[in-house]
Amino acid sequence: MSSHVASTDRPIAAQPTIAVTHLNHYYGQGNLQKQILFDLNLRIDRGEIVILTGPSGSGKTTLLTLIGSLRSPQTGSLQILGQELLHATPATMTLIRRRIGYIFQAHNLLNFLTAYQNVEMALEIHDISATEADRRIQDILTAVGLAQRMHHYPSELSGGQKQRVAIARALVSQPQIILADEPTAALDKQSGRDVVEIMEKLAKERGCTILLVTHDNRILDLADRILYMEDGQLVDR
Ligand code: ADP
Ligand code: MG
Repeated sequence: MSSHVASTDRPIAAQPTIAVTHLNHYYGQGNLQKQILFDLNLRIDRGEIVILTGPSGSGKTTLLTLIGSLRSPQTGSLQILGQELLHATPATMTLIRRRIGYIFQAHNLLNFLTAYQNVEMALEIHDISATEADRRIQDILTAVGLAQRMHHYPSELSGGQKQRVAIARALVSQPQIILADEPTAALDKQSGRDVVEIMEKLAKERGCTILLVTHDNRILDLADRILYMEDGQLVDR
C-alpha cells in the first residue's frame, strides 16, 4: 500500500472541530466602525464541552454567530469541521449550518406546533424517510424526558420543558456541533442544570462538541474547559 493511500486514511479526529486563528471582527462602516473581537485564537476538539463566559457586551454572541456560520468572518481564519469560512460561498455556509445544532436563550419554539412538530421541523431539510424521522423524534424527546409531553403545545410546557424541546430540536439531526447561547438564562437553578446535564449526556453519547455561552456561574462546573472573554479578547484567568 502506498503512503499516499495511508495518509488519506488519517482519522478525522486529528482535525480540530473548531479552529479560530487571528480572528478580528468589526461592526459598522467608515467612521462608525467599531472593533468588537481582537485577534482571537481558539481550538476546540471533537467531543469537548466548552463554556465561554464573560461580561455582557464582551463579544460572546458575536463569536458564537461567527462559529455558527450565521455571520461571515472578515479577517483571520475560522475553520469549522475542516472547512474555511473566510470568503466561503453562501452554499458552503449553508452546508456547515446543517451540521450544527443551535440552542438560544429564548427557545424559539413555534407556539402553534406541538413539541413533536417543532422537533420534526429540524429534520425537514435532511433527506431521511418518514419512518426514520418518526423514530428519531420519539427517541430524542424520550431522551430529554418528554415522552409524556410529545403532543403538547409550548404554552402547556414549563420553561425547562420548553428548553428541553429546543435541545431535542437541536440534536435530532445528529449535528457534530452544538452551539448554545445563554440556554439557562430564563430558568431557575435546578432546571438550568438539568437542561445542561441532558445536553451534555446526549452530546457525549454522540461524540458531539458543545460550545456554550453563559454568564450563569451555576453551571460552570459542567464544562471540560472554561474560556473567559473580556472586551473582545480571550483572557486567561
Ligand atoms: P455578548 O454576547 O458578550 O453580550 P455581543 O457579541 O452581543 O456580546 O456584543 C458585543 C458588542 O458588539 C457590544 O458592544 C454590542 O453592543 C455590539 N454589537 C452586537 N451586535 C451588533 C450589531 N449587529 N451591530 C453593531 N454592534 C453590535
Ligand atoms: Mg450575548
